[in-house]
Amino acid sequence: MDHKVDFQVFPSENMVPAPDRARLLDNLGFGKVFTDHMVAVSWEAGKGWHEAHVRERRPFQLDPASAVLHYAQEIFEGMKAYRTEQGSIVLFRPEENARRFQNSAARLAMPIMPEELFLDAVERLVRIDREWLPAGEGSLYLRPFMFADEAFLGVRPANRYTFCVIASPVGAYFKGGAKPITVWVTDKYSRAAPGGTGAAKCGGNYAASLIAQAEAIEKGCDQVVFLDAAEHRWVEELGGMNIFFVMESGTLVTPPLGTILPGITRASLIALARDAGMNVEEKPYSFEQWRDDAAAGRLKEVFACGTAAVVAPIGHVHHGDNRFSIGSGEVGPVTRQLREALVGIQKGSRPDPHGWLHVIA
Ligand SMILES: *Cc1c(COP(=O)(O)O)cnc(C)c1O
Repeated sequence: MDHKVDFQVFPSENMVPAPDRARLLDNLGFGKVFTDHMVAVSWEAGKGWHEAHVRERRPFQLDPASAVLHYAQEIFEGMKAYRTEQGSIVLFRPEENARRFQNSAARLAMPIMPEELFLDAVERLVRIDREWLPAGEGSLYLRPFMFADEAFLGVRPANRYTFCVIASPVGAYFKGGAKPITVWVTDKYSRAAPGGTGAAKCGGNYAASLIAQAEAIEKGCDQVVFLDAAEHRWVEELGGMNIFFVMESGTLVTPPLGTILPGITRASLIALARDAGMNVEEKPYSFEQWRDDAAAGRLKEVFACGTAAVVAPIGHVHHGDNRFSIGSGEVGPVTRQLREALVGIQKGSRPDPHGWLHVIA
């Protein structure tokens, strides 16, 4: 059924004029500015993937009974296109995003999109909107997503879906040296449980995490850290980033896969750390141990990581009425080294020994 899907391309007739685009690109935050086009592909039971379009970015027409609006059958990806120092446009490990999208779809009982179709869709959007790639430190954030748009209120996997890709030029998350963030460790809320959707990139996980993130902000913190749902003991991850601990021995510790989201940044940093001769252990790490290791000086650095922020150093930790700092509360050398190694590959200023860059012709 999944025969080759042909894209129809309808270039926008309402493109943002170049001077306006230049002004927008001059003042980028995260996820506020969007490019001229979008890609959309439909799926229907019995038909498979069909009606693939590259066209002007515009609102969807959704039936009020669309399943996604009621039962949240929705998944997404987050990836970036970079302009390398050599002037080419590259994606970073996009096959990993395609595969994770398939795994998320399987968990949410949604159709599996072939890897080639996912990559084709993403590349087409980058190509038609390449003028939106910021110069310098910025990048083009790509957001592939899929939702159930069958108009039906019965509870079962929908039989109609829309896959879409939109793009948003983003600035450097950190200008120069990144300032360490403060995290709030919640005892009250869980992000994911065994058998749940923690490893799937679905909007519902975020919906469930927002109240804890709001609590973190209320407590004067930047981000929330979730513990495991069963014991409220083991560190899992932040609302949208994985976490690493750098021990005095030089060993890196990061929570194992299972209920956490398998971050591509996480996997890449594990590989880069091992390339640099560091020992990396994927093992459960308790909040109690975190606090004790920080107090005893055995824990030197902590950082969060994900596509959007790349690497975000964690300087301070709040839990209930207690607070503690990591080292001096400043960015540590291992955090800096790993961030530079990863960004260096993405921007083409360092060799790419693992073949992670995918050049867009
Ligand atoms: C997307 C995401 C991450 C980071 O994944 P990357 O592939 O590194 O961008 C981490 N945690 C959650 C909950 C996420 O949704």
